[in-house]
Amino acid sequence: MIHRINHIGVAVRSLGTSADLFARLFGAPPAHTEHVEEQRADIAFFPVGGSSVELIESTAPDSAIAKFIAKRGEGIHHICLEVSDIDGEIARLKGLGFVFVNDVPGDGGHGMRVAFLHPSSTNGVLVELCEPMSGAAVP
Ligand code: ZN
Repeated sequence: MIHRINHIGVAVRSLGTSADLFARLFGAPPAHTEHVEEQRADIAFFPVGGSSVELIESTAPDSAIAKFIAKRGEGIHHICLEVSDIDGEIARLKGLGFVFVNDVPGDGGHGMRVAFLHPSSTNGVLVELCEPMSGAAVP
């Protein structure tokens, strides 16, 4: 079951520069920053209204974020939908014909198991599913 928009991911060239910019926008520093090795990215979360804006900077030249920025520039990268049973949702959506980038959930950082739907099956929008691991703090 899909519960809410957990966060909106924004690809940035420099997390330092963009975190300063968004800190001015929100009037508060990021609540959480983290390096996520599996995604080869550094991330910063700005909570807002039970959801968050996630800034993402690539830490490897061939990462998904680096490729996205090279192709499309900085900007909104994905929408993350929080689910309570990610394995069940993956099975349900695959059964409906949706295509996944990864259909085995990986480490999304921040105590989340994540999987991405391919934008070719979701009107060009990269959709992330996330399930908080037990005990994980949700922003
Ligand atoms: Zn995300």
